[in-house]
Amino acid sequence: MKIITSIKEMQQYTKEMQIANKSIGYVPTMGFLHEGHLHLVEHARKENDIVIMSIFVNPLQFGPNEDFDRYPRDFERDELLAENAGVQVIFYPSTMDMYPQELSTSVIVKDRVNVLCGKSREGHFDGVATVLTKLFNIVRPNKAYFGLKDAQQVAVVEGMVRDFNIPVEIVPVEIVREEDGLARSSRNVYLSDVERTESPALYQSLKIAKSKIFEGDRDPQAIKQAIFDYLTEHVDAKVDYVEIYSYPDLKPITLIEGKIIIAIAVKFTKARLIDNMTMLI
Ligand code: AMP
Repeated sequence: MKIITSIKEMQQYTKEMQIANKSIGYVPTMGFLHEGHLHLVEHARKENDIVIMSIFVNPLQFGPNEDFDRYPRDFERDELLAENAGVQVIFYPSTMDMYPQELSTSVIVKDRVNVLCGKSREGHFDGVATVLTKLFNIVRPNKAYFGLKDAQQVAVVEGMVRDFNIPVEIVPVEIVREEDGLARSSRNVYLSDVERTESPALYQSLKIAKSKIFEGDRDPQAIKQAIFDYLTEHVDAKVDYVEIYSYPDLKPITLIEGKIIIAIAVKFTKARLIDNMTMLI
């Protein structure tokens, strides 16, 4: 496995791969790898000749009071996990390389951002879209793999790729969970022991919502209330949002039908956890 830190070298590598007619699958991450990331790699391996993973904690997508400084990092561990998972190249640029001076241009996401995490994390998706525009230009992948754990991110990135005719296929990948249902996340390490015991309630509340819907309940308000009630009963944490929208447009709905997303965010002491289910009714 190669570790490339220079943008120029990364672009050169990709050029060589393209000349050799090798397809590139790309997995962008912020590191501190877990099974969720490795599952994206597995998909990328199956569908491409080369798998490139980037590890970059992007300051642009963190708000001033968020966890950029204390975001968990362990490059040596990531290196081992990525190599064992079959990654050929880790692109690991420094912040100075990615942002040598203040940007004179950035990507502003207009649609699908005034809801869910976009609402409580102002500017977050602009930061995501801007760094991905840079990373797509550096890595030039054929396909890029994104987890549905961040379903709003998938919708935003698909919109951006379409708007800007970026020649990459976005591949959404299902959520990977712990055995007790907690969605895998680098931020799960922030949970206290008690919070970790409570945290499967997020997935439980979504499963309850799903069975209500499959039993015929089509009222988004009633379903949201049922989730909220379950969460407040089972976790000692602040429920940030419980929402149901159409997917991937992320528009409010008055009746549950078509493709929808049920999304929740819960703020524990040090970790804000998100989870969701998308379904077609
Ligand atoms: P992150 O390092 O948190 O920015 O995540 C990098 C990629 O991994 C994103 O596309 C995430 O959606 C995806 N990812 C993170 N956690 C999971 C999970 N539990 N299941 C599937 N994909 C995930």
